Amino acid sequence: MRTLVTGGAGFIGSHLCSRLLKEGHEVLCLDNFFTGRKENIRDFLHNPGFELIRHDIIEPILLEVDRIYHLACPASPVHYQYNPVKTIKTNIMGTINMLGLAKRVKARILFASTSEVYGDPAVHPQKEEYWGHVNPIGIRSCYDEGKRAAETLTMDYHRQNGVDVRIIRIFNTYGPTMLPDDGRVVSNFIVQALSGEDLTVYGEGSQTRSFCYVDDLVEGMVRMMGNDDITGPVNLGNPEEYTIVDLARKIITMTGSKSQIAFRPLPADDPTQRRPDISLAGDALGWIPKVSVDDGLKRTIAYFRKELTG
Ligand code: NAD
Ligand code: UDP
Repeated sequence: MRTLVTGGAGFIGSHLCSRLLKEGHEVLCLDNFFTGRKENIRDFLHNPGFELIRHDIIEPILLEVDRIYHLACPASPVHYQYNPVKTIKTNIMGTINMLGLAKRVKARILFASTSEVYGDPAVHPQKEEYWGHVNPIGIRSCYDEGKRAAETLTMDYHRQNGVDVRIIRIFNTYGPTMLPDDGRVVSNFIVQALSGEDLTVYGEGSQTRSFCYVDDLVEGMVRMMGNDDITGPVNLGNPEEYTIVDLARKIITMTGSKSQIAFRPLPADDPTQRRPDISLAGDALGWIPKVSVDDGLKRTIAYFRKELTG
């Protein structure tokens, strides 16, 4: 099985490449290294089953593959807002290119969508049937509207051209190999706590997120790709929900840090609540997250402690 992973040098992509190589896939990792890094895939570079392609998915590419995991897109608000036009081009033009490739070579393609398609949800927890509550002209729109349009493209290629598609909606996922300057909440708080800096809580910290450990997510992705019966979308996330200020307190306690909490302005359109309903993933894929937030944070703290002390 020859499998393409777009965004394969990124956080989730590199964990997925590792898993696929262990399962004996030939893995083509495609990345433009915007937020990905060689370090993430260093261990695979000498594996004969692994091939690295430096390429920007905004440009078409001809490859022969059986499966495509399409992840390429910056995921942290800091990075996707750095060049919003590029973010929406990546989501739309990049996804058209990958769907076109899937169509040409008759590959099954899994699109990595996001809980952001639910926007600032008026329904809680979020089920796949919920259409969302998204600002089409805000600072998050390049990402969330981009992903929504990419979902539309995925379903239209499926209906119009018979492309074999899968859509997953990933909820906040964390774990080792996140970049220390990634900008997302778990890595920010752990790095701040370990460096003795204030933990920057945006707003009052009453907004909630639900946090999934990366190994659990990768298991769900592999199951979704291997499933012959369901195109999705399927939510993949851990329903363990925390307010952001409680997460900050938890990380201060777990790291034994003397850091304080510093409140900062809340960015525009920051969703007030988020928790996946994962009954569909349970029923269709037999998937349920196994790593508790306590355990996953312990592993992630251990990783950053090692990284920061060299
Ligand atoms: P990441 O930023 O670590 O990885 C994204 C990868 O895509 C990077 O390696 C980057 O260099 C690459 N990339 C970006 N634009 C590209 C382009 N135009 N051409 C080629 N490569 C490009 O983020 P991640 O957390 O690993 O997220 C991976 C995917 O999962 C993304 O599509 C993201 O939207 C989705 N997702 C992630 C989360 C999460 O919590 N981590 C939540 C929801 C959805
Ligand atoms: N957040 C925070 N401090 C930080 C980084 C993020 O309080 O240093 C908040 C952010 O405002 C949001 C939540 O944490 O409410 C999750 O942010 P993240 O960027 O990780 O993901 P997303 O908002 O895309 O879910």
